[in-house]
Amino acid sequence: MKSQVANLAQAYQLDQMTEVGTLVHPEGDSLRCVACGHRCLIGEGKRGVCKVRYVRHGELRVPWGYIAGLQSDPVEKKPFFHCLPGSDALTFGMLGCDLHCAYCQNWFTSQALRDYDAKGSSRPVTPAQLVAIARREGSKLVVSSYNEPLITSEWAGAVFQEAAAAGLLCAFVSNGNATPEALDFLKAWIRAYKIDLKGFDDRHYRTLGCPLQNILDGIQMVKERGFWLEIVTLLIPGFNDDERELRELTKFIASIDVNIPWHVTAFHSDYRMGSTPNTQVQQLIHAAELGAEAGLKFVYAGNLPGQVGPWENTRCPGCSETLIERYGFLVRSYRITADGACPGCGKAIPGIWPKETNAVRVGGLEAYGSRLPRVVR
Ligand code: SF4
Repeated sequence: MKSQVANLAQAYQLDQMTEVGTLVHPEGDSLRCVACGHRCLIGEGKRGVCKVRYVRHGELRVPWGYIAGLQSDPVEKKPFFHCLPGSDALTFGMLGCDLHCAYCQNWFTSQALRDYDAKGSSRPVTPAQLVAIARREGSKLVVSSYNEPLITSEWAGAVFQEAAAAGLLCAFVSNGNATPEALDFLKAWIRAYKIDLKGFDDRHYRTLGCPLQNILDGIQMVKERGFWLEIVTLLIPGFNDDERELRELTKFIASIDVNIPWHVTAFHSDYRMGSTPNTQVQQLIHAAELGAEAGLKFVYAGNLPGQVGPWENTRCPGCSETLIERYGFLVRSYRITADGACPGCGKAIPGIWPKETNAVRVGGLEAYGSRLPRVVR
């Protein structure tokens, strides 16, 4: 087929690992892909913005039957702080993305077919094999992450169908450039959804690959559909750390729901932003304080374990009691009751909490042993 890709050999290989997509509508002589907010209109022999979905013989072909990354991670690494804390999440990723962030930490897989140097490899797998691995690893969650999962929604659906039937909680770690069609397709299986809100400046957002409004709409749609939602902002000096911008961003989240956990996390130089300085502790704490001032009840400062005081912990908005104490991905203590409330004042704490609280893994590194983030074979 006609190609518009950086790496022809990789495109040829990936094009073999596809199926006919379902998130698509015919429109004239072309097909309208509705898996992400770009809503690409794709003609015969052409590819969408993500490069990994393409039209051949009048059908939209979509990624299927492989993984490019598979890890067992603490759920706190996603990060989800209000969703089965202390659990392991079997996390899989594929190749490609609908955005092209210059600071992407997964660019080696996400920028496949866009950047010649992004040569992430793939291996075939079935949904049943992934679920068997999750069981073997003792995972409580199965998560689609690393590249943008929306562009591989049909494959995620196939995996989640088996995972949900096996009693595993399914989740998305996404940039939020969503569509109602994709979310309605996924809501049969997904319970938790993390969105990166990468700033609040439309001009900056467009340099990453889409309008800010797409993401704001995505947040609204995810919330309306009842997924458990957590939002993350990677704080990048000079890109999105302007105080006025952070006030607008946190005010927006608070306008949706003050109970949405907001993670503001420290940037470290990566990919094409090698000369941008790392986020300093005080910058991160200041951003967290702005989130609290906006009325957000659960604000977390991440990526600098042990350096941000109480901003890694969950506190009760009713009586300020510390309910979950953390150090990075580690849960050091856990006090939420089996019915999801503060044991001190009885206030309900929003989230998906374990029924068996004494099964929550707590402690230092010794409690995790070899269970910290690791590649799974
Ligand atoms: S997933 Fe998004 S970027 Fe890819 S073809 Fe569909 S609409 Fe376009």
